[in-house]
Amino acid sequence: MMGHTHAMTGAIAWLGLAPPLAALPLVNETTRFVETGIMATALSPAELIAGAIICAGAAMLPDLDHPSATIAQTFGPVTWMLSKAVAWLSGGHRGATHSLVFAVALGLGAHWLAGTYPIGRDIMVVLLIGLALRAVGVGIPGNKLGSAMINIGLTAGLYAVFFSLGVGYAWLGLAVGVGCLIHVVGDCMTERGCPVLWPLSARWLLPWKIGIKTGKKFEQKILAPVLSVAIVGLLFWRLVPV
Ligand SMILES: [Zn+2]
Repeated sequence: MMGHTHAMTGAIAWLGLAPPLAALPLVNETTRFVETGIMATALSPAELIAGAIICAGAAMLPDLDHPSATIAQTFGPVTWMLSKAVAWLSGGHRGATHSLVFAVALGLGAHWLAGTYPIGRDIMVVLLIGLALRAVGVGIPGNKLGSAMINIGLTAGLYAVFFSLGVGYAWLGLAVGVGCLIHVVGDCMTERGCPVLWPLSARWLLPWKIGIKTGKKFEQKILAPVLSVAIVGLLFWRLVPV
């Protein structure tokens, strides 16, 4: 699937699942409980939005095993090197990073980071915001440096806004895990499938070759608009009081 499809399904997953997930123990900071509405005892509106962006960014992580993908150029050489390392470790595109093990491991890792190392957590948050922006097409086509600069500026801006709104990241691990998982689910809908139970090598994909062809008409002309509408609808449902 294309980057923006992954990012949008990541955002949708978070907007859809965040309230029940945020009620789980360990992912909330009791000082900031929201007391009314559908978000009761869950996340603040700013956290819901921050989570959607971060989950969208996390939904790009499995494709870091593909150094030539646009996403690897998000922060210039930094993300390119990261991508090279991930590709080498995971054994090429659609290997280990497209599995349940990866999603769970990364989710747990991020959760641990969020509770232990504020600086590591912030680096991860910034990386994920950047990946999400890049996925939805922030940048100048054909201008790598310019695109990276714009992305860095916007990412820093968003990070600062979240900071000023008192966004906490107790839910970071959850958002990362959900994002990676939804990526794997998405790629299983394509004709190539994923090794969901890696290290077992069997690929999971839809039967009878009905899988989506990446980047073709269906994904671009039908899926993308449907997903965009779903995001707006979910935001409205979650945030506008009735
Ligand atoms: Zn993928």
